[in-house]
Amino acid sequence: SARPEIPPFDGTGRTADGHHVELLANVSGGADAADATRAEGVGLFRTEFVFLDRQEEPSVAEQTAAYRAVFAAFPGRRVVVRTLDAGSDKPLAFVAGSREQNPALGVRGFRTARAYPGVLARQLEAIAAAARAERADAWVMAPMISTAAEAREFAAACRPHGFARVGVMIETPSAALCAPEVLAEVDFVSIGTNDLAQYAMAADRQSGPLAALTDAWQPAVLRLIRLVGEAGARVGKPVGVCGEAAADPALAPVLVGLGVTSLSMAPRALDEVAAALGAVSREQCVAVGAAAAGAVGPREARAAAAGALASTA
Ligand code: PEP
Ligand code: MG
Repeated sequence: SARPEIPPFDGTGRTADGHHVELLANVSGGADAADATRAEGVGLFRTEFVFLDRQEEPSVAEQTAAYRAVFAAFPGRRVVVRTLDAGSDKPLAFVAGSREQNPALGVRGFRTARAYPGVLARQLEAIAAAARAERADAWVMAPMISTAAEAREFAAACRPHGFARVGVMIETPSAALCAPEVLAEVDFVSIGTNDLAQYAMAADRQSGPLAALTDAWQPAVLRLIRLVGEAGARVGKPVGVCGEAAADPALAPVLVGLGVTSLSMAPRALDEVAAALGAVSREQCVAVGAAAAGAVGPREARAAAAGALASTA
């Protein structure tokens, strides 16, 4: 083929001048964790996928076994476990809310912890037990956080368990806009670009006709990411991206330039993203990030990023 050969990911993400950008994997259980071990660790373990077809809440013992399977695939390496992201596009029978007109804007993610505090408590207990049994570097984070108060509430629920790090996802515009206050409550954040784009652009992430609006290259989305990246850099806390945007090789230098410190993706994207980052310096990332975020639309952002790359090559 005419496509240039992409070298396989060597296990450490870095720019051409050696700035480390962790390249992590998204997994949904022990079965696909085995295919993800080329990554530096797991940046997003979507625990709801383990239990999607269940009518009843799995026991703590059963959950512990499921989490151990993922930790066991990454001995000594970071695994970021996301607590249940139930509701909206991922309904779970055992945390069923009342029927809602707008489920994406309803009781989903961390919001279900109010209605079902025991479900969160038992899940944290199981994650902690699994982490102890596997001596894992277990980080935990909550999905769908809108306020610093929610981040504080989640962190308080986690502290007694002694996890390596406690964080939250940034996937609402409110959390991005209040990133400094959210970061003050936790050790790290991870940006979910799928939902962040949906809520920033007021466009359903599953809608085909609206796909141009939910593009992560939309300058509005990039500017929200920049707010989070800048806030993280100011306090020296990690800022990851774990949405689909992290798998776009052209976007990787932009995200790093906006202050993102790790990218978590489907394992098949690792080679291309690593190669794209390895071709640019950190300084080029900053130029590319500024060019893309300053553009007027997604097409212009892509062109501006390519132009900034060419002019600084
Ligand atoms: C996201 O919203 O970008 C994300 C990573 O979470 P999910 O796709 O599971 O909603
Ligand atoms: Mg999400």
